[in-house]
Amino acid sequence: MNLVYKRQLPNPDEIKNMYPVPEELAAIKKANDKEVQDIFTGASNKFLLVIGPCSADREDSVIDYIKRLRTIADEPLVKEQLVIVPRIYTNKPRTTGEGYKGMLHQPNPEADPDMFKGIIEIRRLHLIALQETKFSCADEMLYPENHIYLDDLLTYVAVGARSVEDQQHRLTASGIEIPIGMKNPTSGDISVMLNAIKAAEHPHTFIYRGYEVSSKGNPFAHAILRGYVNHHGESRENYHYESLIFLADRYNNEHFENPSVVIDCNHANSNKQYMEQIRIAKEVLHSMTEHVRIKNLVKGLMIESYIEDGCQKVEDGVYGKSITDPCLGIEKSADLIREIAAIRKKMLS
Ligand code: PEP
Ligand code: MN
Repeated sequence: MNLVYKRQLPNPDEIKNMYPVPEELAAIKKANDKEVQDIFTGASNKFLLVIGPCSADREDSVIDYIKRLRTIADEPLVKEQLVIVPRIYTNKPRTTGEGYKGMLHQPNPEADPDMFKGIIEIRRLHLIALQETKFSCADEMLYPENHIYLDDLLTYVAVGARSVEDQQHRLTASGIEIPIGMKNPTSGDISVMLNAIKAAEHPHTFIYRGYEVSSKGNPFAHAILRGYVNHHGESRENYHYESLIFLADRYNNEHFENPSVVIDCNHANSNKQYMEQIRIAKEVLHSMTEHVRIKNLVKGLMIESYIEDGCQKVEDGVYGKSITDPCLGIEKSADLIREIAAIRKKMLS
């Protein structure tokens, strides 16, 4: 191999000892976990919103954003109807391998990769979020071997569209105790996503970070529909009524622990037209009122949102504006969250 071994990275125990989770925060994370798990088992009829920037590019604006989200989450109607889990996405899959790969690779998006610093910074960011806002957040499990650096801080994790067919992701998911969303692959093949859920639900023996390990299975593994790309390279949606009924049918054909779906309103569903997320969210809620099977299946939405609307090039440097996928700004997001809570209340009454 032509690898240059630059330096050894700190192991998870070393980093956890440097940035431990105090007992009172661990208890808050546990309570947050339970709230979200209860949504997937059906014990709670609250609605999940996994919402936040496409990528957590810098600490100041991400914490600022999540603090604003906390204020909205604490409004009485929102609190009564919704469970909000902010996205702190610290590692980004790239279609061609080019471009910003997230805070893990580049703690400073304008500087060279520094993964030694990155692996510390991503834990610090999740810990600060929990300390300052009482939110334990969501991240993508892009690199399964890194999940253990953050497992005591996260309340939700997703396996991305480009990773969902990979065995190591599926086996690692089976050893995770929080809800894990399996996205449909970029091709849109629903079987790949369902196979990933099935694999995650079951116990396995496998290799993890140089050890032979065994897992217990994850009963909270579920689907995320994010749209897909057709054979002509065009984005196509899979959030409409027909796609949801189709998924309900597929779930029905086999046994699954907790048949559930979260609808990702951006990515190929919106064709990255971030403003469309508002309409898509409302359409999904409407479909839930049209058919009880959809109402039982859809547990929440994923929304890409940041302080400012849209996106920018890394070097443009606008505070709180996405440097990856375009996001809905905080004011429009706040209005949407309130509207979703109001629709939910009406739906349940
Ligand atoms: C994301 O959630 O930002 C993301 C990269 O998603 P996907 O895997 O669906 O492309
Ligand atoms: Mn994105």
